[in-house]
Amino acid sequence: MTTTVAFLGLGHMGGPMAANLVKAGHSVLGYDPVPEALAAAAGAGVEPAASATAAAAEAEVVLTMLPAGRQVLALYGEGGLLAAARPGTLFVDCSTIDVADSRAAHRAAVGAGHRALDAPVSGGVTGAEAATLTFMAGGGEAEFAAAEPLLAAMGRKVVHCGGAGAGQAAKICNNMILGISMIAVSEAFVLADSLGLSDRALFDVASAASGQCWALTVNCPVPGPVPGSPANRDYRPGFAAPLMAKDLGLAADAARAGGVDTELGLRAAALYAAYAEGEGADRDFSGIVRSIRARSAA
Ligand code: NAD
Repeated sequence: MTTTVAFLGLGHMGGPMAANLVKAGHSVLGYDPVPEALAAAAGAGVEPAASATAAAAEAEVVLTMLPAGRQVLALYGEGGLLAAARPGTLFVDCSTIDVADSRAAHRAAVGAGHRALDAPVSGGVTGAEAATLTFMAGGGEAEFAAAEPLLAAMGRKVVHCGGAGAGQAAKICNNMILGISMIAVSEAFVLADSLGLSDRALFDVASAASGQCWALTVNCPVPGPVPGSPANRDYRPGFAAPLMAKDLGLAADAARAGGVDTELGLRAAALYAAYAEGEGADRDFSGIVRSIRARSAA
């Protein structure tokens, strides 16, 4: 069944995601304030709209893929999306945003007579291009059922995590595990080196032992053991360090708000914030191994 979708935010992720909706036969009206982003999406079959509200007014589903919660809330509210859309429009926010902002976006959409789902993603730009993203959704059963065919056209796995904000909660908890485990794996490689143990030997043991994890076996932070990992291409992303810093910041905010003692999560957030502001600004998050090595040598 063809659905008319307004796709707002056609950046690194949104551009290829919108293109995959077009490929799946949906009618996609797109908007992004950056002309190059809009033109690239138009090249992939997205119909450029004059504004976000113009796109939303025509759509059955409004999908947002924006940098942060403030853009989502601004677009819903003062940006006029909720007012412009037809009653009962399904608002699906795929951006990674604060759980509290996500719940506020749900309330605003429902309060204006619409339906809402949060559906952040994991899988990065390659996953967006290949339509192999994992979607983590939060919202009601009916909203999830309505959005699922669209999400399935852009991803490989779609998980309904619970009510409003549950998708965002799953995303930041997962990425807190990932950030902490990447630091742990990186510290282990630097320590192994100082003990005279080769990267290969540590990899062969830990990848088949209880140290096994995705940060080691897929995104290995040292060159060699996993030829496809960013370490083999001078840490070109992959998953850029500033995005990891952002997600760990969201997890840290949520932990503070809830009074949860995420000691390692807070430490990882601080380490990634420092890395992302410096050498890591345009590097994969696994490049943090280099700053650990640099600090160790000093
Ligand atoms: P991006 O900066 O490339 O894209 C965001 C786009 O939103 C930009 O093109 C920007 O011009 C547009 N935008 C801003 N305000 C707008 C408005 N009012 N109306 C319409 N468009 C507007 O960012 P991205 O890498 O595509 O990430 C988007 C979201 O996905 C973020 O929340 C990010 O955390 C999340 N995410 C990114 C990755 C990744 O690997 N890049 C992976 C998972 C999740």
